[in-house]
Amino acid sequence: MNRYDVAIIGGGLAGCSAALHIAKRGASVVLFERGRCGAQASGVNFGGVRQQGRHRAELPLSRRSRRLWDQLPELVGTDCEFVATGHLKLARSDGEMAELEAYRDMAQDFGLQLELVGKRELRELYPYLGDNLAGGSLCREDGQANPRLVAPAFSRAARRAGADIREMSPVSAAWQIDGAFQVKVGQEVFSATKLINVAGAWGAKIAAWFGDEVEEDVIAPNMCVTEPLPLFMGPNLGVCGGSIYLRQIPHGSVIFGAGMAVADRERLRARPLVEVTQEGARLAIEMVPRLANALLVRTWTGIEGSIADGIPVFGPSSNVPNLFHAFGFTGHGFQLGPGAGAVLCELALDGETRTAIDGLSIARFQQPADSPEKQGRPIEMKK
Ligand SMILES: Cc1cc2nc3c(=O)[nH]c(=O)nc-3n(C[C@H](O)[C@H](O)[C@H](O)COP(=O)(O)OP(=O)(O)OC[C@H]3O[C@@H](n4cnc5c(N)ncnc54)[C@H](O)[C@@H]3O)c2cc1C
Repeated sequence: MNRYDVAIIGGGLAGCSAALHIAKRGASVVLFERGRCGAQASGVNFGGVRQQGRHRAELPLSRRSRRLWDQLPELVGTDCEFVATGHLKLARSDGEMAELEAYRDMAQDFGLQLELVGKRELRELYPYLGDNLAGGSLCREDGQANPRLVAPAFSRAARRAGADIREMSPVSAAWQIDGAFQVKVGQEVFSATKLINVAGAWGAKIAAWFGDEVEEDVIAPNMCVTEPLPLFMGPNLGVCGGSIYLRQIPHGSVIFGAGMAVADRERLRARPLVEVTQEGARLAIEMVPRLANALLVRTWTGIEGSIADGIPVFGPSSNVPNLFHAFGFTGHGFQLGPGAGAVLCELALDGETRTAIDGLSIARFQQPADSPEKQGRPIEMKK
């Protein structure tokens, strides 16, 4: 009989981390992944491990996850090339500088330390930056890792800890009978007491099977990588508004992202766009002029779930006990992934978590049961 304490749908970073944490606690856990673990967004992203700029509702999860990035060698047996290079967010005007200052003050409440860097200091410390910058904000703790390595490392560690990791196993349906979840894969049906939906850009579709309705869009950040260059860049770079972001990896290539490409989540296809790449290259050169002569060797993108208010759906279902969702990470789920798994483990095994996730609840999109919309009564229009 295929019976487990916990079933997980989705083998991205969030799912593989949840499987690892649950298996380490001694519970039986099965993870179903349609393709290979980490082959979707978790394996093709920019690789930014960034807390700076995260929404305040996300910061507690982001802070918890950041501690796990330091522990990767003990947790999964490799550092996945994680390096705390720092992240420097740049301002192009005094108004943007004021934004950075306000964010710095807010982030302090969460223990996130940011250092403001003035215009002159910026020139001295980072002479490779272009002109027209008013200053920046440095987060020394932020950094980068190799996305191709991380989810597979978590899935291997989860398997070593006893998790049943099933790749090439698309879930075609799931439902609940007498308090137990039934999960259909091919002709087989698996049973579990708890169910975790971490299906990335396909998460809302699975949530809807259980009456949890939320709109999840798709985004496809356009990514580029240059030939290897002599090492010169310190921290990863970003800018207020997020129009361009760059990092240099240890063997010298500079990876940058700018603008959106196209993705079709039904056909599992995503492709970068030439015109977006050209504009991205222009912005990259404006920020780091020495990239003007660098050769671009590859462009790519991926399929990412996006929620309208810019933060994921994370936490218990509003409708079904013992069902937990974590999807629609809207471009932030690589940094959040290790912590997301730890929190999902607590929710599934303990029914509660020590990390504040209230602001990410799916309930923010749902009408209360006694609302006129839910009951089909006419709604009084306010003038
Ligand atoms: C190009 C790009 C750049 C990005 N850059 C960054 C960055 O720098 N920093 C950052 O923090 N985040 C970044 N992100 C976002 C980040 O990659 C994602 O938020 C994160 O990887 C999501 O992880 P996940 O596990 O939720 O989803 P995914 O990695 O998408 O995994 C979900 C898995 O569920 C599986 N699945 C779906 N439906 C089913 C089903 N029915 N049955 C079985 N399996 C199913 C899918 O096959 C998939 O493997 C970026 C994303 C992209 C695309």
